Amino acid sequence: MMHSVSLGSRAGSDITPELSVFQAVCAGCHRMIRDRFLLRVTDGLWHEDCVRCAACGDALTNSCFLRDRKLYCKRDYAE
Ligand SMILES: [Zn+2]
Ligand SMILES: [Zn+2]
Repeated sequence: MMHSVSLGSRAGSDITPELSVFQAVCAGCHRMIRDRFLLRVTDGLWHEDCVRCAACGDALTNSCFLRDRKLYCKRDYAE
């Protein structure tokens, strides 16, 4: 459970809204993104609803922190 990764990336990743592209697959749930808009986080495309903190469930809007391929808000990432 306490798997630790390298602490090299201390800065959060930007979340960039984009118009959906053909056959985009969500990096969070691995389903097709059929919404009009999607969010780009690092190299992945996500449903708007999937960009949530894995710890507290808050929707992440401007930036997020990636750990073990899950997204966290700044508060939970710091813990
Ligand atoms: Zn998704
Ligand atoms: Zn959180």
